[in-house]
Amino acid sequence: MNASAADRRIRDLRGPKPVVDPWKAHGSLVEEERRPNGRIERALTVFLAGAECPFTCSFCDLWRYTIDGPTPTGALPAQIAERLDAIDDNYPERIKLYNASNFFDRRAVPADDLPRIAELCARFSAVTVESHASTVGPTTLEFARRIPGSLEVAMGLETIHPEASARLNKRLDLARFDRAAAFLVGNGIELRVFVLLGAPYVPQQESVDWSVRAADYAAQRGAAVVSIIPVRGGNGEMERLASLGQFRPPTLAQLEAALDRCVGWGGTVVTADLWDADRLAACETCRAARIERLRRLNVSGRAERRIVCRECE
Ligand code: SF4
Ligand SMILES: [Zn+2]
Repeated sequence: MNASAADRRIRDLRGPKPVVDPWKAHGSLVEEERRPNGRIERALTVFLAGAECPFTCSFCDLWRYTIDGPTPTGALPAQIAERLDAIDDNYPERIKLYNASNFFDRRAVPADDLPRIAELCARFSAVTVESHASTVGPTTLEFARRIPGSLEVAMGLETIHPEASARLNKRLDLARFDRAAAFLVGNGIELRVFVLLGAPYVPQQESVDWSVRAADYAAQRGAAVVSIIPVRGGNGEMERLASLGQFRPPTLAQLEAALDRCVGWGGTVVTADLWDADRLAACETCRAARIERLRRLNVSGRAERRIVCRECE
């Protein structure tokens, strides 16, 4: 994919890229997650190091975790094997392979590595990988056939706000998302969707509403899980947009408001991404309690009373 003028502008604003070792995963964690049938399962997420994503979405900072050039053959199986060695016999049900790019892009995941990766995943009953809608296709089916468990593909829908969606530089329109979602669901592959909170160009007072609408859009297309991700600053382009008044970092209160509106949806589990919740603007007196409440909501899916705080309300 050739770099466009927008790609170049976004890349020029980035800070230096950290040195990344393609033979070593960035890390891993085990979390409990709720599935649409209400079952709570344990999921191991492995944060893999590999080739940078060829898309250059304005809000994305995942390039920090990638290398220049293609992923070397053998590197991903080595990273996964090393992480699996660290697990005792109590294997989680699901493994999530997050490579900060697109699992079905051959530059990111060499074709020769797919059989070995599938073998390493064989002890899990479910596997989640991430992909731009454009790279979902025959390779997805091939990988699904290779693993004994079920496959789930996580795709970024980001926003359905028309102007914002067109200006994220993601090269994704709703028709393409719909085709990829229908392809996955039609082939018995589960769909996980990432939705942004605080996407640039979405007016701040409408931010929560557009996140909920995007989550609902994904649910209507068969998403098993929707994760609401607050947009982070720090990649240069977000700071440029903030200086133009086109981006305001989302707050913890907005994340709470968005998730509260999605609790109890049948058929789709909606969660708040709490990865960087400590960095969201919030009252320091009640921040920890609010994050803990969201953590509980993510797993239980049951409505809870809002936190009451004398400092901020
Ligand atoms: S497609 Fe995903 S990984 Fe690639 S730049 Fe966009 S958000 Fe980042
Ligand atoms: Zn407070």
